[in-house]
Amino acid sequence: MAATLSTFAYLVAAVLFILALRGLSHPTTSRQGNLFGMVGMGIAIVATLLRPGMGGGGIGLIILALAIGGGAGAYIASRIQMTALPQLVAAFHSLVGLSAVFVAAAAFYAPESFGIGHAGEIHGGSLVEMSLGLAIGAITFSGSVIAFAKLQALMSGAPITFKGQHWLNLGLGILLVVLIIGFVASGSAALFWLIAILAFALGFLLIIPIGGADMPVVVSMLNSYSGWAAAGIGFTLSNLLLIVTGALVGASGAILSYIMCKGMNRSIINVLLGGFGTDAGGAAAGGGATGDRAPVKAGSPEDAAYIMRNAQKIIVVPGYGMAVAQAQQVLREMGDLLKKEGAQVEYAIHPVAGRMPGHMNVLLAEANVPYEDVKELEEINPEFADADVAFVIGANDVTNPAAKTDKSSPIYGMPILDVERAKTVFFIKRGMASGYAGVDNELFFRPNTMMLFGDAKKVTQEIVQALQRD
Ligand code: NAP
Repeated sequence: MAATLSTFAYLVAAVLFILALRGLSHPTTSRQGNLFGMVGMGIAIVATLLRPGMGGGGIGLIILALAIGGGAGAYIASRIQMTALPQLVAAFHSLVGLSAVFVAAAAFYAPESFGIGHAGEIHGGSLVEMSLGLAIGAITFSGSVIAFAKLQALMSGAPITFKGQHWLNLGLGILLVVLIIGFVASGSAALFWLIAILAFALGFLLIIPIGGADMPVVVSMLNSYSGWAAAGIGFTLSNLLLIVTGALVGASGAILSYIMCKGMNRSIINVLLGGFGTDAGGAAAGGGATGDRAPVKAGSPEDAAYIMRNAQKIIVVPGYGMAVAQAQQVLREMGDLLKKEGAQVEYAIHPVAGRMPGHMNVLLAEANVPYEDVKELEEINPEFADADVAFVIGANDVTNPAAKTDKSSPIYGMPILDVERAKTVFFIKRGMASGYAGVDNELFFRPNTMMLFGDAKKVTQEIVQALQRD
């Protein structure tokens, strides 16, 4: 009876997880999606605790682990800045990978507890599941640690490349498969640990060559890996829900990686092999078109207010700096004022603006910017030519024409928002610093560009005041 009830509860939880993913696919339904996910996870935890064979001591230990892990998670999540979410996600992925490694080791050394045979006589199928969980888990762990270090600026975001890197990665990948076959045939402990070491090294090697601007794809790819690692644990533990949940995360992460690759104009095969968008010894972060340049034209918030009051069509381009400054509310106020003056105001979203997929959509939704005013890159790009003003607030890489013109640039090939086609381009930023990819932006020096130096929130507030004054 308890077993049937637990299986039924697992089914309900799995359906709720699917509804959660569906809800998260659009800003209007994302809150509901989160709610489905939370309820599903609650049901899954209770159903697991009620599974037959779960002794009192086991339940006590699980509750203790839940309290420690849940407490730490709640504490970290309540303190984390929105802008630091990508590195938090990378850090959490690394834990999923590490648990897959631990579960595989536990199953290998205590197979009786998992009902998969005896020491030295583990069932062949279980050895396959265990070795896959181990390899994917170890790759996820070390890859996520490197992604975390890069995103947290604990190590340079510049690609680390060397000659023959792709071939080395490919060779190690093939060796890993050979070791797994050897392990399944022999059940050898030495091969088990060789797989672990090689997979840790591979995770590290796959992520170090990836440079700044390509990190979003890496984060979603590691998301996918962590899902497959969880599915691997599910097989070892014979837990159906973990297999389903892992597969959902793995598949949705893979789809997101594909969408991001398309958005960044990168090849998914290169992503899987590591080090895409870079050539060994070639492009590194830094440098864009340099040389003799016109002086930068700087303006004041009053100048900007004057020009925008006389504009018919204004396209706002938000980026990471808007998130840092938390300028979205005042930006919406500015948009509302300009609309009252009769201007058309739209918001252009680049797929990798900010530091996580959907970052700008979330912030604009939080500020109640109407969804119909928010446009994706393909939709808005043809409109810049008719725009009087492109109001670039804290965005940089996503507007950088080096992506179209400079083959040696790490962002070469990435589609960008064509802001320079607008009559006037405002860049709101604190100084002349480059963006995440470390590439100079020649648009700052163009004759139709006016720099508005300062914190994005402060400058926009001053523009709002100037608009309200007259
Ligand atoms: P960006 O290229 O990183 O540029 C942001 C700009 O904001 C900087 O040049 C900075 O210049 C300015 N800024 C920072 N704080 C500010 C503040 N308080 N007020 C005003 N300006 C401020 O940002 P982006 O154009 O949004 O491009 C995103 C980049 O991050 C891409 O390279 C993307 O590949 C990468 N990335 C994206 C994700 C993702 O999933 N979306 C994840 C990881 C990495 P100043 O210092 O001069 O102010």
